[in-house]
Amino acid sequence: MEKWPIGVFASIDAGLGVKLEVAKELGIPTIQLHAPAKETRTPENAEAFLNKLSDFGITLTAVFGGFEGESYADIPTVEKTVGLVPPETRAERTIEMKEISDFAKLLKCNVVALHLGFVPHDTQCDLYKEILAITQDVCDHCNANGQSLHLETGQETADGLLQFLKDVERDNLFVNFDPANMILYGTGEPIEALKKIGSYVKSIHCKDGTWADKPGEEWGCEVALGKGDVGMETYLRTLNELGYEGPLTIEREIPQDPQRQKEEIGGAVKLLSDLKGMIG
Ligand code: MG
Repeated sequence: MEKWPIGVFASIDAGLGVKLEVAKELGIPTIQLHAPAKETRTPENAEAFLNKLSDFGITLTAVFGGFEGESYADIPTVEKTVGLVPPETRAERTIEMKEISDFAKLLKCNVVALHLGFVPHDTQCDLYKEILAITQDVCDHCNANGQSLHLETGQETADGLLQFLKDVERDNLFVNFDPANMILYGTGEPIEALKKIGSYVKSIHCKDGTWADKPGEEWGCEVALGKGDVGMETYLRTLNELGYEGPLTIEREIPQDPQRQKEEIGGAVKLLSDLKGMIG
């Protein structure tokens, strides 16, 4: 693959990403896929999707797990509902994450990713140890499928995440870096964070956002790429310095407004292509 192919976060069914047809119309050569609903994760559907990817000339670079009942309404709701951390749903979601890894294998994809949820800061508490154990379990399942597991950033500070990555002690565990999430969740300055965890960064999101008045308590605002506080040129220059050559995957999650979503993703493609020409 060429250095820094443009990508977009996409969905097969009613997920957060764009439809594959939109990626094709915009001439985007790679996607990350939001895992489709459980009942549609069949071998037949996997084969049909692979054929469609091949027809469209699109490469699948990661499959993102997501679960029913997750809500990104506000930060406390994320803490209660997202990922493998909430105890009520942990066992069933861990099983489902392994099924998503198996589905990704059917799609011949060797990267599986997810929002793990809010990992506690206290590394001595029981919850931290439980989250370590399930992450090891999921990593080992992915490893048996020949896959890496990428954790999406945002819910932890760079230092917290770095500690966690080390404590899991699995060499197929990496990071999907999302600079906007650091701003939206108020967990730290994104470029500084990227430099700290750079050696773990194996996939990225190109997303932008503006800081909240009270970072960490209320949401920042997700905005079109280049309109927020990330600083896309500095972001790409930093990735370049770190030796990152993987896809630049645009994430713009406004599925309720598909026309605007397509326009803004088109704008992001243009911005990233210009920066690639300058830096890459
Ligand atoms: Mg993201």
